[in-house]
Amino acid sequence: MKIVVDLNRCQGYAQCAFLAPQVFELHGEEALMYTPQPPADQRERVLRAAAACPVQAILVEDGVEDRPEDRPEARAADPGAEGRPGVR
Ligand code: SF4
Repeated sequence: MKIVVDLNRCQGYAQCAFLAPQVFELHGEEALMYTPQPPADQRERVLRAAAACPVQAILVEDGVEDRPEDRPEARAADPGAEGRPGVR
């Protein structure tokens, strides 16, 4: 999982820091610090924080920790890999 916070949108409402304090932290009134690649055990909290952000400033890219060969773009780059013997 990867997250990006649009800091131009963020208004420092702190909903994210309340819901996922290990990932989002407010310093002062509006300076948001966050972990761009939060650990897997924070996934649910991050999703809740993203949903709760009043200005939808939190963008979540889910599934980034999956195996690279499982990603659609990897398959598109090598479309024959799945059918070849010995290739998993
Ligand atoms: S909930 Fe949204 S607006 Fe509030 S601090 Fe987090 S990212 Fe910023």
